[in-house]
Amino acid sequence: MNTETDNFWETIPLSRMTPEQWESLCDGCAKCCLEKLEDEDTGRIYYTNVVCKLLHRDTCRCGDYVNRARIVPSCVTLTPAVLENPRWLPSTCAYRLVAEKRPLPDWHPLITGDPGTVGEAGESVSGRVVSEADAGPLEHHLVDWFE
Ligand code: SF4
Ligand code: SF4
Repeated sequence: MNTETDNFWETIPLSRMTPEQWESLCDGCAKCCLEKLEDEDTGRIYYTNVVCKLLHRDTCRCGDYVNRARIVPSCVTLTPAVLENPRWLPSTCAYRLVAEKRPLPDWHPLITGDPGTVGEAGESVSGRVVSEADAGPLEHHLVDWFE
Protein backbone atom coordinates (compact mmCIF):
# COMPACT_ATOMS: atom_id res chain seq x y z
CA MET A 1 0.00 0.00 0.00
CA ASN A 2 1.25 3.48 -0.84
CA THR A 3 1.90 5.98 1.90
CA GLU A 4 1.35 9.68 1.44
CA THR A 5 5.07 10.23 0.91
CA ASP A 6 5.12 7.58 -1.84
CA ASN A 7 2.68 9.61 -3.89
CA PHE A 8 5.36 11.75 -5.54
CA TRP A 9 3.00 12.73 -8.36
CA GLU A 10 0.88 14.67 -5.86
CA THR A 11 3.77 16.67 -4.43
CA ILE A 12 6.53 16.95 -7.04
CA PRO A 13 5.88 19.17 -10.07
CA LEU A 14 6.22 17.48 -13.45
CA SER A 15 9.21 19.68 -14.21
CA ARG A 16 11.10 18.40 -11.15
CA MET A 17 10.44 14.68 -11.43
CA THR A 18 13.37 12.34 -11.95
CA PRO A 19 13.43 10.41 -15.24
CA GLU A 20 12.37 7.30 -13.31
CA GLN A 21 9.42 9.07 -11.70
CA TRP A 22 8.43 10.56 -15.04
CA GLU A 23 8.48 7.22 -16.86
CA SER A 24 6.60 5.46 -14.05
CA LEU A 25 3.64 7.79 -14.58
CA CYS A 26 2.90 6.09 -17.89
CA ASP A 27 0.31 3.35 -17.33
CA GLY A 28 1.11 1.67 -20.68
CA CYS A 29 -2.47 1.93 -21.94
CA ALA A 30 -1.28 3.07 -25.42
CA LYS A 31 -4.37 5.23 -25.93
CA CYS A 32 -1.99 8.01 -26.94
CA CYS A 33 -0.90 5.81 -29.86
CA LEU A 34 -4.45 5.73 -31.29
CA GLU A 35 -5.13 7.66 -34.46
CA LYS A 36 -7.55 10.57 -33.99
CA LEU A 37 -9.72 12.78 -36.13
CA GLU A 38 -10.49 16.39 -35.22
CA ASP A 39 -13.66 18.23 -36.21
CA GLU A 40 -12.33 21.38 -37.83
CA ASP A 41 -15.41 23.41 -36.82
CA THR A 42 -15.73 22.40 -33.17
CA GLY A 43 -12.23 21.21 -32.33
CA ARG A 44 -13.73 18.01 -30.93
CA ILE A 45 -11.39 15.02 -31.09
CA TYR A 46 -12.70 11.62 -32.19
CA TYR A 47 -10.73 8.50 -31.36
CA THR A 48 -10.43 5.40 -33.53
CA ASN A 49 -9.33 1.81 -32.96
CA VAL A 50 -6.41 2.33 -35.33
CA VAL A 51 -2.92 2.51 -33.86
CA CYS A 52 0.44 3.72 -34.96
CA LYS A 53 2.32 1.24 -37.11
CA LEU A 54 5.17 1.10 -34.55
CA LEU A 55 3.03 -0.15 -31.68
CA HIS A 56 3.23 -3.80 -30.67
CA ARG A 57 -0.49 -4.40 -30.38
CA ASP A 58 -0.32 -7.23 -27.85
CA THR A 59 2.13 -5.68 -25.40
CA CYS A 60 1.22 -2.02 -26.10
CA ARG A 61 4.93 -1.24 -26.30
CA CYS A 62 6.41 1.15 -28.83
CA GLY A 63 8.52 -0.73 -31.36
CA ASP A 64 11.33 1.86 -31.20
CA TYR A 65 10.79 4.11 -28.21
CA VAL A 66 14.19 5.81 -28.41
CA ASN A 67 13.83 6.77 -32.08
CA ARG A 68 10.05 7.21 -32.14
CA ALA A 69 10.00 10.94 -32.86
CA ARG A 70 12.28 10.52 -35.88
CA ILE A 71 10.42 7.52 -37.29
CA VAL A 72 6.94 8.87 -36.59
CA PRO A 73 7.07 12.68 -36.78
CA SER A 74 3.48 13.00 -35.54
CA CYS A 75 4.41 11.23 -32.26
CA VAL A 76 4.58 13.98 -29.65
CA THR A 77 7.24 13.51 -26.97
CA LEU A 78 5.68 14.50 -23.67
CA THR A 79 7.49 17.20 -21.70
CA PRO A 80 6.37 19.58 -18.94
CA ALA A 81 6.09 22.32 -21.59
CA VAL A 82 3.90 20.16 -23.84
CA LEU A 83 1.72 19.33 -20.84
CA GLU A 84 0.88 22.98 -20.21
CA ASN A 85 -2.01 22.26 -22.59
CA PRO A 86 -2.78 18.54 -22.10
CA ARG A 87 -6.37 18.53 -23.40
CA TRP A 88 -5.47 16.60 -26.55
CA LEU A 89 -4.28 13.62 -24.50
CA PRO A 90 -6.70 10.82 -23.49
CA SER A 91 -8.76 11.81 -20.46
CA THR A 92 -7.31 8.88 -18.48
CA CYS A 93 -3.67 9.67 -19.31
CA ALA A 94 -1.70 10.00 -16.08
CA TYR A 95 0.39 12.87 -17.47
CA ARG A 96 -2.77 14.78 -18.28
CA LEU A 97 -4.31 13.99 -14.90
CA VAL A 98 -1.23 15.16 -13.00
CA ALA A 99 -0.92 18.27 -15.19
CA GLU A 100 -4.56 19.06 -14.38
CA LYS A 101 -3.96 18.34 -10.66
CA ARG A 102 -6.42 15.48 -10.64
CA PRO A 103 -5.93 12.10 -8.90
CA LEU A 104 -4.71 8.99 -10.65
CA PRO A 105 -7.39 6.32 -11.19
CA ASP A 106 -7.49 3.45 -8.73
CA TRP A 107 -6.34 1.00 -11.46
CA HIS A 108 -3.09 2.88 -12.15
CA PRO A 109 0.03 0.75 -11.49
CA LEU A 110 1.44 3.39 -9.17
CA ILE A 111 -1.64 2.87 -6.97
CA THR A 112 -1.98 -0.91 -7.31
CA GLY A 113 1.68 -1.87 -7.69
CA ASP A 114 0.62 -4.15 -10.55
CA PRO A 115 0.87 -3.23 -14.27
CA GLY A 116 -1.80 -5.84 -14.98
CA THR A 117 -4.54 -3.77 -13.40
CA VAL A 118 -4.62 -1.49 -16.45
CA GLY A 119 -5.84 -4.33 -18.65
CA GLU A 120 -8.08 -5.78 -15.94
CA ALA A 121 -9.85 -2.43 -15.72
CA GLY A 122 -10.41 -2.42 -19.49
CA GLU A 123 -8.13 0.58 -19.92
CA SER A 124 -5.52 -0.95 -22.24
CA VAL A 125 -5.97 -0.99 -26.01
CA SER A 126 -4.21 -4.37 -26.18
CA GLY A 127 -5.99 -6.81 -28.47
CA ARG A 128 -8.65 -4.26 -29.45
CA VAL A 129 -6.94 -2.33 -32.22
CA VAL A 130 -5.75 -2.59 -35.81
CA SER A 131 -2.57 -1.18 -37.31
CA GLU A 132 -2.71 1.91 -39.48
CA ALA A 133 -0.94 -0.19 -42.11
CA ASP A 134 -4.07 -2.37 -42.48
CA ALA A 135 -6.93 -0.12 -41.44
CA GLY A 136 -7.99 1.89 -44.48
CA PRO A 137 -10.04 5.08 -43.94
CA LEU A 138 -10.03 6.25 -40.33
CA GLU A 139 -13.68 7.28 -40.64
CA HIS A 140 -14.57 3.58 -40.62
CA HIS A 141 -12.90 3.03 -37.25
CA LEU A 142 -14.41 5.57 -34.86
CA VAL A 143 -14.57 4.23 -31.29
CA ASP A 144 -15.56 5.97 -28.09
CA TRP A 145 -12.96 4.68 -25.62
CA PHE A 146 -14.01 7.05 -22.88
CA GLU A 147 -17.80 6.62 -22.54
S1 SF4 B 1 -2.08 7.72 -22.73
FE1 SF4 B 1 -0.64 8.50 -21.21
S2 SF4 B 1 -0.56 6.91 -19.66
FE2 SF4 B 1 -1.43 5.94 -21.49
S3 SF4 B 1 0.34 5.10 -22.62
FE3 SF4 B 1 0.01 7.17 -23.39
S4 SF4 B 1 1.40 8.47 -22.19
FE4 SF4 B 1 1.17 6.52 -21.08
S1 SF4 C 1 5.92 6.09 -32.30
FE1 SF4 C 1 5.66 4.70 -30.55
S2 SF4 C 1 4.98 6.00 -28.83
FE2 SF4 C 1 4.70 7.17 -30.74
S3 SF4 C 1 2.56 6.80 -31.36
FE3 SF4 C 1 3.84 5.27 -32.41
S4 SF4 C 1 3.85 3.48 -31.08
FE4 SF4 C 1 3.11 5.21 -29.84
